[in-house]
Amino acid sequence: MRLWGRGLRRRTAALWLLLLGAALLTLALSDLLHRSLDRDGDHKPVPPRRPLQRLPGPGGPDLELIVDSRDPALELGGDLAPLQSLQEEQLLFVAASSENPAHRKGGYKVLRPGTNRESRATASPADGHRGRRGSAGRDAELRALQRFGFDEALSEKIPLHRALPDARHPECLEDHYSETLPAASVIICFHDESWSTLLRTVHSVLDTAHEQHLREVLLVDDLSQHGHLKSVLSEYVSHLSRVRLVRSTRRLGVGGCRALGAGQAAGEVLVFMDSHCECQRGWLEPLLERVAQDRTRVVSPIIDLIDWQTFQYNATQWPVRGVFDWRLDFHWDSSGLQPQERVSDSAVEALRTPALGGEVVAVDRNFFHSVGGYDPGMLLWGEEQVELSIRVWSCGGSMEVVPCSRVAHLSRHHLPYRFPDQELLQRNKIRVADTWMEAYRKIFYRRDTLAHFIRQSENPDVTERLRLKRSLGCRNFHWYLTTVYPQLYIPQDRAGLSGELYNVGTGSCADFPRSQGGAGGAMSVALCSGTGSQHCELNSESEVRWGPMGALCFDGRGERVLLSPCPSQRPTTSRLRWRFIKLSGQLLHLQSQLCLEAVQEGALPEGGAGRRLGGLFLRPCSRHPRQQWHFEQLVAPKGA
Ligand code: UDP
Ligand code: MN
Repeated sequence: MRLWGRGLRRRTAALWLLLLGAALLTLALSDLLHRSLDRDGDHKPVPPRRPLQRLPGPGGPDLELIVDSRDPALELGGDLAPLQSLQEEQLLFVAASSENPAHRKGGYKVLRPGTNRESRATASPADGHRGRRGSAGRDAELRALQRFGFDEALSEKIPLHRALPDARHPECLEDHYSETLPAASVIICFHDESWSTLLRTVHSVLDTAHEQHLREVLLVDDLSQHGHLKSVLSEYVSHLSRVRLVRSTRRLGVGGCRALGAGQAAGEVLVFMDSHCECQRGWLEPLLERVAQDRTRVVSPIIDLIDWQTFQYNATQWPVRGVFDWRLDFHWDSSGLQPQERVSDSAVEALRTPALGGEVVAVDRNFFHSVGGYDPGMLLWGEEQVELSIRVWSCGGSMEVVPCSRVAHLSRHHLPYRFPDQELLQRNKIRVADTWMEAYRKIFYRRDTLAHFIRQSENPDVTERLRLKRSLGCRNFHWYLTTVYPQLYIPQDRAGLSGELYNVGTGSCADFPRSQGGAGGAMSVALCSGTGSQHCELNSESEVRWGPMGALCFDGRGERVLLSPCPSQRPTTSRLRWRFIKLSGQLLHLQSQLCLEAVQEGALPEGGAGRRLGGLFLRPCSRHPRQQWHFEQLVAPKGA
């Protein structure tokens, strides 16, 4: 009896153990299954075990916090205040009262105290009380404009989900992309971005990218100060699937912030995107395809424009490519291709480009790291896209604009942030010039004298980047100019025949106001700037080349001297040919045999460098001082 009883107890215990084991096994298996489905991206991800965690990770000490919020049912961690008490810097966060949980996503609004939408919308001057509020509203709008560089009040009225008109070429719609494209991590760095533009960017990515192609959206906060970007944002993000928020503990700037994001990204392809963009349907696949076909390709969509005043969408004209000038300023150039450049007439084929802007760039993650990421020596903002472009091409990669992909970027009126360092852009340009341009850097320093003087006094250290250049076996700038960017005119800058064109009679310099645009127009004279912005040269073709691209020429038409685009064929058009007579200082227009004369329009205004004083004319040659000119070299940069 006792024996039987003991046996029964043992058997019962064994049964219990067996059941427990089976339960544990089932749990473990289901967890594994979920994880693998999550990795494959074809199943709703499971909630993370710890929604908020401090990660040491590859981001190093700069990384503070990750909000990894893959499930709407996620519980908030201890770092976040409960919803009702969120009043950071007097911001209120209000959940939209929608019944349908599907509409809940993105249905939040941030309200600022004193911003009463209804009263603003209905304000009428007839109603004294409301009228006062209306003008207060306008004041607030003006402040917002100054703060952000665009009409932020208008932006807030536009839904966070909006579909852009489809500007793609009809042939693009016929393209079918492989199911096996690599998945992307979209990295969105932001510093004090407005709520509406930031969230519209995030939602437009989520709304347009197919789930299997989007590994994650990685928001990287570059130490923003604005209250709405703090816990309010953390919480909002916690309700979005596939969005992670990383915060930096240090202000890193564009390149540093993107590098931090790249270190955290899990996708095979990195897509760096500005925090004020809106994607067109189907934008991601064409980019992924080009990268998948060749992992050394760095690609960009066509960057369309969102107007800072109206928030209207403006499609950019194709073909477009990225270029930079001898002041190392980047531009998108839609002015058309030379006939010999047109590889095919197709409007849907990718176009190789000497450079890409920073708005949206897609690159294979491994290639990005192997080619040196972003230059960590760059200060907060500017030039990182030019540096990346020269490096990618010189060190074995290539760059393209992919026309079947379109993303719109908010073209702001001015930058929304002030930098502690006034000459920050020059300092970044110096790094590009000293690392990548070898002897050609002299051409840059003559056109940016501030950069020249900063470099002389500081002698910046680029040894790490030069070492990288050597170790990657990168080609030189001469190769880049002749092979990748042959469209860029290479100035000769001959001694005595280049520099500011100084007029003895008026004491001013030949000038072309930037506001007149890049296509040319009437030349004028203005106070000499001394910055290199008025640099020009008389080259061996007898052209007087003007501007940082060197693409505009002094053109004698009737009695006026205009700037016209210089022809690429040789010999040059006879209307554009000049001779400098050193002895008399006369600049002779060869076709008309007339001399260049500075003509002042009205009296000299008091002060104000760069003010327009008059025009350049062709007149019968005389010894008058207004026909006497000097090419003044402002700086003499040392050799490479
Ligand atoms: N940005 C950043 N840290 C900075 C400056 C800018 O993270 O110190 C972000 C910014 O919010 C934007 C991107 O980097 O998402 C590019 O900057 P911005 O849009 O000002 O450049 P732009 O488009 O004017 O050239
Ligand atoms: Mn931008």
